[in-house]
Amino acid sequence: MRSTMDWQITQIFLSDTGVHEVHVQSSTHKLKCNCPGFSERSMCKHARFVKTRMDKNGGIYPVEVSTKVSREESLEASHDPFAFRELLVNYGKIEAL
Ligand SMILES: [Zn+2]
Repeated sequence: MRSTMDWQITQIFLSDTGVHEVHVQSSTHKLKCNCPGFSERSMCKHARFVKTRMDKNGGIYPVEVSTKVSREESLEASHDPFAFRELLVNYGKIEAL
């Protein structure tokens, strides 16, 4: 199945250029970011930040969410990219970069 369902959000960033999101493609581990720098160079500081953390964590991004969210809730949301994005927007830790 080739679709946008394949892309999962990893981290939301607050930058001087706005709010940006880095997504990972689960099948290839490719990263993409919606900032202007990424569209020019296919790489940016946000994607690099995510890649470094993934490398340190065995290839999986350690998503940080509020303790208000139970493990079951975040596990359930992780199966649905839309629900997972909602979870991160509402309870995720936002990195300033
Ligand atoms: Zn970026």
